Amino acid sequence: MSRIRSANTQPELTVRKWLASKGYRFKIHYPVTGKPDIAFPKKKIAVFIHGCFWHGHNCKYFIIPKTNRNFWLKKIFANKKRDLKVSRQLRKNGWKVIKIWEHEIEQKPDKIFTNLKTKLSE
Ligand SMILES: [Zn+2]
Repeated sequence: MSRIRSANTQPELTVRKWLASKGYRFKIHYPVTGKPDIAFPKKKIAVFIHGCFWHGHNCKYFIIPKTNRNFWLKKIFANKKRDLKVSRQLRKNGWKVIKIWEHEIEQKPDKIFTNLKTKLSE
């Protein structure tokens, strides 16, 4: 596994499809700190769509495998630390950071889309 975050996951595609259907123009994997999954460079809004497992979401989808427990805990802790660093750096550079969790997009897409719409029109 060369990269932790895989590109073009299903939740990413769901969000992108919705944005495109509403006529929003965005960039994917924009070359700025953390390579946001979706970016609005003019508005300086970065959207990250996080897998609940890889990014250690405090929800029922975050289940540490029974084998190699320490390995996974360490790995996910490192990911979370990196996420924080990335957000901080982006904010420092004037970006707004929006995080979307995989399980939210699967379960409450309407809520996510409403939130996104609000943030994009600010
Ligand atoms: Zn979750």
